[in-house]
Amino acid sequence: MICLRCGYCCISLDAVIANPGSIKPDGSLEKDDTNAMIFKPSGQMCPHLIFQGIKAICSIHNLLCYEGTPCQQFDQFGSEDNICILGSYFKDETAKTNLA
Ligand code: SF4
Ligand code: SF4
Repeated sequence: MICLRCGYCCISLDAVIANPGSIKPDGSLEKDDTNAMIFKPSGQMCPHLIFQGIKAICSIHNLLCYEGTPCQQFDQFGSEDNICILGSYFKDETAKTNLA
């Protein structure tokens, strides 16, 4: 899947994410920390999401705490070189809302 860097999934979807307060200086999570993973509800911007202009970036993407998370495993049907369907869908929905 080719990510368009729109950031919609990091705002519009329910997600289980690494707790910002539980990330150690080396980028990993404390194994015994029961609050290491937290729920981010749909419609709420993920605290790890930053924008450079209109380009959405996951600030923990390259850290150890990202490995194995639902975000890392997030994928969709279609071939690897298909553009993200979800991003296109949310863009279309937003366009419809703005026209209503
Ligand atoms: S952790 Fe990264 S990929 Fe997951 S929702 Fe937050 S910004 Fe998006
Ligand atoms: S909705 Fe798709 S294109 Fe947009 S940031 Fe998420 S994965 Fe990337």
